[in-house]
Amino acid sequence: VTLSAILALLVAAIMIASLLFWSATRTDGLAFQRQAQLVDQVVAGQEPRVNRMVEPFTTLAEIASEVRKPAPDLQMIDGALGTWAYTTSGMEEAYILSDKDQPIYMMIEGRHVALSSFASVRDTVMPMVRALRSMMFDPKKHLVGNYLTPGVVDYVIIHGHPAFVIVKPIVPLYSEIPGVGRSKIKFTGKPGTEYVYILVKRMDEKSLLMTKLREEHLYQHVRFSWTDKTRRGEGAHPIKSPRTGRVIGYYIWETFKPGSIVLKDMMLPLLGALLVVSLVTSFLLRRIRRSTIELQASEAQAKHLAFHDVLTGLPNRALFEDRLDRALARARRHPDQKVALLCLDVDRFKQVNDTLGHPAGDELIREIARRLSEVIRDTDTVARLGGDEFAIIQTGIRSRGDITALCKRVLKTVSDPFDIMGSQVFVGMSIGVARAGTDGFERTELARKADIALYHAKADGRGRHSIFTDSMDMTVQVRRRIEQDLRVALEKGDELRVYYQPTYDSISKAVAGVEALVRWQHPTDGLICPTLFIPIAEECGLIEPLGEWVLKEACTAALHWPIGTISVNVSAVQLRNPLFAQRALRIVHATGLEPTRLELEITETAFMDNADQCEQNIKALRAAGVRIALDDFGTGYSSLNHLHTFQVDRLKIDRSFIMGIQNSSSGSAIVRAIIDLARSSGLQVTAEGVETKEQSQFLCSIGCDAMQGYFMSRPVTHEMANEMLGVDRNILAFAPPHSRVA
Ligand code: C2E
Ligand code: CA
Ligand code: CA
Repeated sequence: VTLSAILALLVAAIMIASLLFWSATRTDGLAFQRQAQLVDQVVAGQEPRVNRMVEPFTTLAEIASEVRKPAPDLQMIDGALGTWAYTTSGMEEAYILSDKDQPIYMMIEGRHVALSSFASVRDTVMPMVRALRSMMFDPKKHLVGNYLTPGVVDYVIIHGHPAFVIVKPIVPLYSEIPGVGRSKIKFTGKPGTEYVYILVKRMDEKSLLMTKLREEHLYQHVRFSWTDKTRRGEGAHPIKSPRTGRVIGYYIWETFKPGSIVLKDMMLPLLGALLVVSLVTSFLLRRIRRSTIELQASEAQAKHLAFHDVLTGLPNRALFEDRLDRALARARRHPDQKVALLCLDVDRFKQVNDTLGHPAGDELIREIARRLSEVIRDTDTVARLGGDEFAIIQTGIRSRGDITALCKRVLKTVSDPFDIMGSQVFVGMSIGVARAGTDGFERTELARKADIALYHAKADGRGRHSIFTDSMDMTVQVRRRIEQDLRVALEKGDELRVYYQPTYDSISKAVAGVEALVRWQHPTDGLICPTLFIPIAEECGLIEPLGEWVLKEACTAALHWPIGTISVNVSAVQLRNPLFAQRALRIVHATGLEPTRLELEITETAFMDNADQCEQNIKALRAAGVRIALDDFGTGYSSLNHLHTFQVDRLKIDRSFIMGIQNSSSGSAIVRAIIDLARSSGLQVTAEGVETKEQSQFLCSIGCDAMQGYFMSRPVTHEMANEMLGVDRNILAFAPPHSRVA
């Protein structure tokens, strides 16, 4: 912009300057033309003046007769035609020729000269004399011009001077019509025999002509020159013979140049204007430049904002997708340049957010972003896709080892404690990896596969990475099908059923209660385990209708059973819903079951996510008399903490601890510790998954309240449970009911 503005300004200045210069020279040229015309006019103006001056004498009869005398009176001729002309009008030379073209009188600068000197001018003047004589033959030519007699005029060089020469006949006149008509020549002789008068008027420096030009017409330094060589500021105009057209010399003068004068006068104001324009332009340019820079900066900022995450400054999803597309396109062209997509998810981020607040969560995300940026290479990209989700595009991979190495670096850097707002925070990371080429070259496909791998990493216990394999995809497809089928099953309601597994009192050995466990009789796949479809139902939002359906079934069934407690499993997802307690209680009331007979089994994960909602629900349920059991106790993250935070009535020790009883004394020690803790907290304890007599005996010996497991009874159908409970519940105790296996 600056360059083109300067250029435009320059071009404009040059154009204006050349236009001005052109008009100045043109004006000067026109002015000179006028001056030259005036010179011509002044030169030509001699003829009438001289004519009028001499004609009264050349037409005088006395003079005409006097010159013809053999010895004319020289004094008389001097007075009329000779010295008189010199003294009054500055006519430098005068000659009179006879009818035979012989000089009879010669005067140069007021003095008579020898007649022989006529020879020096004869050649110059004779052609004019001859011309005059020929005119005399033709009466029509007698009146050329407004003169009394004809005459011949020319500019020639006489005695080294440029000179105006006039040749007139010396003939008397008579008046034809006095006062009105014109005078006529009264020449009695033969035409061509007239006496001729020749008058010379010099045209150089001291001539009257020059004076006139100088004084009347104000020509500066006007001079005569034989050549047209001029000095600076001068102009030359040729003096041409009107008869022959010959140039006899030049008038040179200092020309009047109005154009140049105006140009000179305008120079300063123009330069000033140019300066002002340049200044204004440069000021404007600077303004434009500054605003352009600002604009560029804000544009760059806008661009940055459009493609970067505000919180961390990392590339956002849009830029990430663009980079991934490019990387994949490159990888497709160069198979040796391998690319991997890593999907990262922060473990336990929610907890930090919930316990320390959002500013802390933001701080944590920023710090994680910083650490991630440090462990990747310059050619890799780390992006924040939203929330606690990150992604890395790893390029230049030579082997699978490079991927695992990066994953390890990421896991290592994230596992170090974070110093967030004064408290130390520990989080972890789960990583899902998909490899370009092996897993496809399409961005969305790769992202989907990395997500699946991430899901597996989380399912495998988080804090680890998992590289996508096709079998993972299979499970995903299976899951999708299950989800669809489950939706249908829930609508139809005839594929789902509830099994019941009793729990036994350790001391009385009697059935203390039953736990409702859902089953799905799939039309083609057969009986599907809840461990398979419950997580799917949780993910796709089907867990709520499913859970409510089980609750209703179980409560209705238990209504007629002579047992204390009916246990129903509740998913953490259900507890997250603020309306859960209300809706569960409505179902219980609708079935007519006493709420105190209902025990809801919840897992620790419920306390991890949305602890507040969960607590609210539990409070409301307990207030209504419903009891709460902590299921799968011991498998969670920080089990014991929650016993104080949340009000629960019972612990169900996870099957994995019960299994440990046989093979190790340490296993037994843990179970013992849990039971001691529960007792000291005033909680009831149920042992899950009791499969052997030894286990049951050990548990009895250490004071476990209740037991549940295949050793006593497997989960059974509704009908079988009816039978078990209705016929004789006491003798069922502790008898392995092989025949009644579900
Ligand atoms: P859970 O609540 O821990 O249920 C106990 C699981 O252990 C049941 O598996 C039961 O069949 C099994 N089991 C009982 N005794 C033994 C034993 O001696 N040995 C072994 N190896 N296993 C034993 P099931 O019925 O397959 O249920 C699995 C899980 O599915 C349940 O674990 C529960 O978390 C979930 N679930 C089942 N029904 C429901 C339901 O209606 N709602 C919800 N939200 N979850 C349910
Ligand atoms: Ca359970
Ligand atoms: Ca359990």
